[in-house]
Amino acid sequence: MVVSGKISLSTQGECDIIDITPQVSDFVSKSGITSGTVTVFVAGSTAGVTTIEYEPGLVSDLKAMWQRLVPRDIAYGHDQRWGDGNGYSHVRAALLGASLVVPVTGGKLGLGTWQQIVVIDFDNRPRSRQVVLQVMGES
Ligand code: ZN
Repeated sequence: MVVSGKISLSTQGECDIIDITPQVSDFVSKSGITSGTVTVFVAGSTAGVTTIEYEPGLVSDLKAMWQRLVPRDIAYGHDQRWGDGNGYSHVRAALLGASLVVPVTGGKLGLGTWQQIVVIDFDNRPRSRQVVLQVMGES
């Protein structure tokens, strides 16, 4: 069985890190699937999905890492071509990846105790985002 759905998010952009674990967990629980996987995919080329311990120190550490790894204040070909100023956003999103697969057992997400699912919006402005969820498995 496959059950698909979406989560709608409003983000602030600029490395906004949003914990979507409660919504994913709720969706999996309502899907009726007890054993399988859930795919979490963010639509758009300037956002990504990963897991982290969602606490303010680490959220701040992760944001600082993105600035070190893919700085905002260097030249990007995308900005010269399109002028929308978010070349760094696209590169960060490509590096992080747009999806995550989490095992589902006993109808629950197989996450660690201190592991949350987060969407990171790298764009240079607030955005509305659709996160696609697809639970596959047996009920
Ligand atoms: Zn762009």
